[in-house]
Amino acid sequence: MQPVKLGIIGCGIAANKLHWPALQKLRDEFEIVLVCNNTEPKAQAFAEKVGAPYVLDYRALLADPDVEAVDIVLPIHLNYRVTREALEAGKHVIVEKPLATNLTEAREMLALASRFPQVKMVAENFYYHEGFHRVRALLQEGHIGEPYTVFWDVFRRMDENNKYAKTQWRIHHQYPGGFITDGGIHNIAALRLMFDDLVGGQVFTKSVNPKIGEIDSFCFQFQTSGGVHGVLNIFLSADGVSKNELVILGDRGTLRLENTQHLTLIQDERVVLEETIESDWGYRGEFEDFYRAIRMDRPVNSTFARAYRDLSVMIQALETVRAWPNLVFPERGLPSDA
Ligand code: NAP
Repeated sequence: MQPVKLGIIGCGIAANKLHWPALQKLRDEFEIVLVCNNTEPKAQAFAEKVGAPYVLDYRALLADPDVEAVDIVLPIHLNYRVTREALEAGKHVIVEKPLATNLTEAREMLALASRFPQVKMVAENFYYHEGFHRVRALLQEGHIGEPYTVFWDVFRRMDENNKYAKTQWRIHHQYPGGFITDGGIHNIAALRLMFDDLVGGQVFTKSVNPKIGEIDSFCFQFQTSGGVHGVLNIFLSADGVSKNELVILGDRGTLRLENTQHLTLIQDERVVLEETIESDWGYRGEFEDFYRAIRMDRPVNSTFARAYRDLSVMIQALETVRAWPNLVFPERGLPSDA
């Protein structure tokens, strides 16, 4: 089978550090035929790296009949416009997460998905991450009995010198939640992969370092469709504490996944299984899925509908901040502790 002739729009961090390493391993599946960035130094540097010509206007890339499929790796607020134009130009589309900047625009993306026959997928790599699939399998096989609670702590320090924080579209974000939405959408996707769906919840948010956007601290209490209670903590201004730890308690055991890689199964206070998950965070898997959909007519895993639901959970969760009960404590009129 012929490799898919791919055009890449956006030659920034994700294109260079995440998509290109995955595509390098898939030379039989993809041939990069054209790249685009609106500023020339980045376009030129990436073009040289991947060995393809470049253009500065994405419309020129979309007009090129040699390009069969496009990989959209742009600031989030451009996802909708460029996806629509790419589909109108007859291209298959893989577009980076999150699906859109808000739910109105996300519904427009869903409408595009049903209007155009080409392959449409969202580059949500967590849907292809072996660690979360392994956890899902262990849960389904009953290794910890009935799961009843899940805790996921993501603590790191992401100050204004972080490479992602240097992208102006993230700091002056045109979507609710800033970094929390940009990064946390992955955690929502993984939770929905492991537990089917999130059906309700409440959020606490805070901004510790306003230099990295609207909020950087997020504590989300939720319930899954299977009745599991959970807490997702994302704290991006955590000084001196860096961790990514998922713990699931069941009535017959515990599952722990550290740094999405080190998996432990505990039963009766004994470690009965320890695994190191080999994973590139799912980037290769997402492109393999895109290829199979284009060349073998298979359905994709990371659909627009799935990404819509992920975004809907995140945006609705963020909106619960307004509904957070304003507790007055101690209650007026009660005697003091003394
Ligand atoms: P980035 O470094 O800012 O890359 C975006 C690139 O698009 C920049 O090089 C920018 O050029 C270029 N650009 C902006 N407007 C353009 C236009 N109209 N036409 C052509 N090029 C244009 O951001 P990033 O970190 O790569 O993020 C890009 C996307 O990937 C986002 O959707 C993000 O959520 C996603 N992402 C996903 C993951 C993951 O793990 N799946 C990780 C990181 C990012 P200039 O900067 O020169 O303007």
